Parts: sequence; structure tokens; C-alpha cells
Amino acid sequence: MKKHIRQKFVVGNWKMHTTTYEAEQLSNGIVDGLGVSDHVTVILCPPFPYLGLVGEMFKGSRIALGAQNMYPEIEGAFTGEVSPTMLLDLGCRYVILGHSERRHKLGESDHFIHQKMVSALAAGLEIILCVGETLEQRRAKETEAVLDRQLSTGFCGIASEALSHISIAYEPVWAIGNDAHHATPKEAHDVHGLIRSKVSKVFGETWAHAMTVQYGGSVEPENAAAFLGQTGIDGVLIGGASLRVASFLAIIQAGILETGAEMQPA
Ligand code: PEP
Repeated sequence: MKKHIRQKFVVGNWKMHTTTYEAEQLSNGIVDGLGVSDHVTVILCPPFPYLGLVGEMFKGSRIALGAQNMYPEIEGAFTGEVSPTMLLDLGCRYVILGHSERRHKLGESDHFIHQKMVSALAAGLEIILCVGETLEQRRAKETEAVLDRQLSTGFCGIASEALSHISIAYEPVWAIGNDAHHATPKEAHDVHGLIRSKVSKVFGETWAHAMTVQYGGSVEPENAAAFLGQTGIDGVLIGGASLRVASFLAIIQAGILETGAEMQPA
């Protein structure tokens, strides 16, 4: 029987890494090695200074450009900030909002992230909203409460029609870039179920079913298939492994295989 083909997402977040030269090398390697299968949506989020350069290199490829953050105003006296319209101008289609490093290292509140969501939607960007608990919160059995707060504040007042422009990335903070703690695919699967049921409570089952929910936290070529093979895990958000061409391509291939499609050469 032919396997049902589901679209998977593979998103690379370069964080505050790369030089101009490295960004060029990485982009070249990924474009050259990507292949022709379009069963996986591939998105790359370089640092702001390289968006223009990398965007040019992705032209004609099927890699979409994303940003790692934005400010929720269109323009004004906000020194050092970048607006959603600037991102669109540079060719971005996606923006990551609420990444745990911004929540925990830069002190972004749920409300501020919600403001960014409203602004990104108004501008026409596709949102990848990151949610997830810290290790302390998990140990205190607060995972559900934390997700509840992040999701209900994030989505507050957002119309269900906008949901097709939002995907969620479940990223347990304790599993990000961490050699000591890895979430198991089963743990990720369980929390994905929780997230989908929360979306269902607010927006109904149809919207919750249609919602893309990705997993992020130390995904590598070795474990990507195990995460991507879980029911309800629609993609992976990758930090460290997206900085290595071979690893990133191997994770994309794991996604392609998971859809049941044939792997095809570039
Ligand atoms: C991330 O920062 O979103 C992330 C998932 O990083 P890593 O893959 O390095 O754990």
C-alpha cells in the first residue's frame, strides 16, 4: 500500500553564528546538495546581517528564507531593531518568534511575543512560534502550565483564519544544544499531543489537526528519523546541526524518507 505523503518541515536556525564567507559556503553546500524532492519544506534562518546575501543565493532554489526574530513595529525610533517589513523586503517568508534564548536570555515576555505575532501576521509573514519548558519547570511538573501560558498569551485574540500562517515548535529548553539532556521521541510525541489538544480547545479540532507542530532540541542526523516518525511531529527545528552541510542535508533526507517519497539526486 502506498504510504500517505505528509509534508514535513526542516528549519535551520543559525543563531549568532557564521561569517559572510561561512554563510556563503553553507548556503552553497545546501543548495547544491538539496535534491529535487519537494516533500519537505526547507527553511533557513541566518543572522540578520546575512539575510540579503543568503536570500540571493536561495533564489531559484526551494529553500525559504526566515528570520530569527523581529520587532513588532513597522518603523520608528527603535535603535538596533528590525521590522517585519524589512524582513519581507529582504525576501523573508518566515520568522521565528519566542525562541527560548530570547525568552530566557533576553527576557522577552509572553505578551511581547504575542505583540510580535500580531505584527508579523499583519505584515504577511509566516510564524514559527517556539514554546517549551525549562528543566526546573519540567522537574516541578509544570510543563503543561507553562505551555498553556505561552500558547494562550501568544494566540490571544488571534483569529482562527490566521492559524494557517502559524506553526508551533515545541522546544524543551533543557534539550536545546545540550549533550546531557535529550528528550526522547516519545517524550516529544506526548507533549506534541498536549499542544495539539490545547489548540483544539481554543480553535477546534479541525484547526488543531491542520496545525504544523515541529520539534526542536539537539536533533541530529542520528535521531532525526525517530522524531520525524512520530505521529504528530511535523518537522524539526535545528540549531547546531544546521551549521554543517552534511548533517542538515541528512536530516532533510530523513524527512523525505518519512513522507514515503523516493530520495532523488540533486
Ligand atoms: C534551537 O536552538 O532551536 C535548537 C533546537 O538548537 P539545537 O538543535 O542546537 O539543540
